[in-house]
Amino acid sequence: MDGTESRLRPIPNLTIDDIWRFNLRVDKTGDCWIWEGSCIDGYGCFEIAKGVYLTHRVAWKIFHKEDPGPSRLLHSCNNTRCVNPAHLRRGTHSENMLQGFAEGRKFSKGTSHSRVRLREGDVVKIRKLYAQGMKQCEIYKQFNWVSLSTIGDVVNRRSWSHM
Ligand SMILES: [Zn+2]
Repeated sequence: MDGTESRLRPIPNLTIDDIWRFNLRVDKTGDCWIWEGSCIDGYGCFEIAKGVYLTHRVAWKIFHKEDPGPSRLLHSCNNTRCVNPAHLRRGTHSENMLQGFAEGRKFSKGTSHSRVRLREGDVVKIRKLYAQGMKQCEIYKQFNWVSLSTIGDVVNRRSWSHM
C-alpha cells in the first residue's frame, strides 16, 4: 500500500486524453460523482503517465486547474469515491491530523463494515460482467475494495438475492 506521502504527491499535467479517460469512469447521475474505476481502500485511483493518483485529487486539478498541494482534500459528503469538486475542500492542518487519525483507525480495523461496500449499481454491473463470461477474479480487479469472496457471493446470489 502506498504511504501517505506518495498519495499527496503533485498531480502531473493532464492531457485531453487523460481527462477524457477520467470522465469515462465517473458516474455523474447523482449528487455525488462516483468514481467507478479501480480503488484502493475505498479511494479511487487513476493512472497518469505510469503513476497512480487519488481520483478526488485529480478531479481537483482538472476543475481548479491547480494542484491540491500537500494538504488532504476532505469530502463534505463523506463518500471517498466521490470526485465532485463541489464536495471537496482543502483541510486545515488540524483537520488533516484528525482525518489521518480517523483513516488510520479505519484501515487498521480492516473489517468489512468499516470499508465502502457495494452499491446496487455495483451489484448489477458485477452480475452483468459475470453473465458476459468474465471470471470472478477479473471482476474483482474492478471492485477490489471488497473481497473476492464478496464478488462470489454476489454472482452466486448468496448476497443481494433480492435483486
Ligand atoms: Zn460527494
